[in-house]
Amino acid sequence: MAMNGGNAIAGLTRNWSRKAARASLDVLFPPLCTACHARVGEAHALCGACWSKISFLDGPCYLCCGFPFEIDTGPDTLCAACHAKPRHFDRARSLLSYDEGSKDLILAFKFADRLDHAPAFARWLERSGSGLLTEADLVIPVPLHRWRLWKRRYNQSAVLAQRMAKLAGKPFAPLLLERKRPAPAQASMPSAKARLRNVLGAFGVPPHRQAGLKGQTVLLVDDVFTTGATLDACSRALKRAGTARVEVLTLARVVRPAASDI
Ligand SMILES: [Zn+2]
Ligand SMILES: [Zn+2]
Repeated sequence: MAMNGGNAIAGLTRNWSRKAARASLDVLFPPLCTACHARVGEAHALCGACWSKISFLDGPCYLCCGFPFEIDTGPDTLCAACHAKPRHFDRARSLLSYDEGSKDLILAFKFADRLDHAPAFARWLERSGSGLLTEADLVIPVPLHRWRLWKRRYNQSAVLAQRMAKLAGKPFAPLLLERKRPAPAQASMPSAKARLRNVLGAFGVPPHRQAGLKGQTVLLVDDVFTTGATLDACSRALKRAGTARVEVLTLARVVRPAASDI
């Protein structure tokens, strides 16, 4: 009993000192909006003005690729693009629309070392993608080729996937899928067809790692879904290695394919 009481007091003191330390840190370094640096109530959050600019994709969408409906045609409908060319992934969903309201945040996270966005993005993804996460056996990021990783120093998709997997208590498996050859950035491709050709055969699962994927449901994570070509090439490699199902979760989605500058 004495031990329990002692532990409880020690716990309270620890909690109190943590809160006190946090409060004094908040005075010295008040939490700021991750986008515009206005003061906010908690760390890694957006202020009301920045939040209101973001369009969350939480309405009805097409079955496979998650493209938002303009007219609700029912939950089991495929869009024209998925009809014309079936995807290798089973279902793709995105958290928000890649547009003027979200573009700066995402580009800063992707290219400008703004890794301080990662905790908020991962938390949003974990909440919105909870259905996909529950069914997943493994969480895998879209890999960067090692040369690009060396130049950019981090893989933004892996950062998101790792944090999200941790929040959901799911295994994070960044080494199962590899980018076998470097390819020019998808953003430099002039058309959807060129994007498909650019990543054809670019991904693979090393033979000694294939056993880890047999019969598994994989949640594949990326930052932006533009035409879906990269995600499709990754899914093809995962399925070839024996993965039973590939679900895709991305932070953002280009809703008008013409606006593809990612
Ligand atoms: Zn703001
Ligand atoms: Zn579709």
